[in-house]
Amino acid sequence: MTEDKLVVLGQASVGKSTLINQFVHSIFIDVYDPTLEDAYLKEVKIDDEWHLLDILDTFEYEDYTPLKDSWLREGEAFLIVYSITSRRSFDKVATIREEVKMMQEYSDYVSIILVGNKCDLENERQISREEGQDLAKTFNCPFFETSAKDRINVDESFFSLAREKKFQNEKRLE
Ligand code: GDP
Ligand code: MG
Repeated sequence: MTEDKLVVLGQASVGKSTLINQFVHSIFIDVYDPTLEDAYLKEVKIDDEWHLLDILDTFEYEDYTPLKDSWLREGEAFLIVYSITSRRSFDKVATIREEVKMMQEYSDYVSIILVGNKCDLENERQISREEGQDLAKTFNCPFFETSAKDRINVDESFFSLAREKKFQNEKRLE
């Protein structure tokens, strides 16, 4: 079985904890402790291969979190989340990606996917789907709009991240 260490990053309240709990437990909880650092395990079969996904939930406290360096160093693949209802959370994405690249040993082969969450809140939308897609294109990474509330593209995002890790590893070893 392949073990994948996945890390979920993004500004506070974009829905990181909610996404993970939808994926792992298929539940929607309305309120989480915002300063939750927690690891979740889930066994899944992806493309005929069993994976043990070890998913780390993270948080940021006023831009500095002592644990951040170790999250970024030890993670193997990163799900960067913004909320389609928050321009600020979208503007943070590029910085987060730079931080990941800085801490990763093989910075040209980092495994990242970009996720625009809360796509059920169409009337509060601030970031168009095209804008998200275009940013992902500049990163050359997969992109999904998700709803942790309605369970849209939740499995797809985590599966895609595990595939991206495999893809980048193979590319690096070529
Ligand atoms: P985190 O700080 O990134 O972990 O964000 P949380 O997972 O704690 O979510 C923050 C708030 O957004 C909570 O009230 C969630 O219920 C809500 N939320 C998370 N995902 C969604 C979503 O896809 N749609 C809607 N409508 N609300 C969401
Ligand atoms: Mg959280």
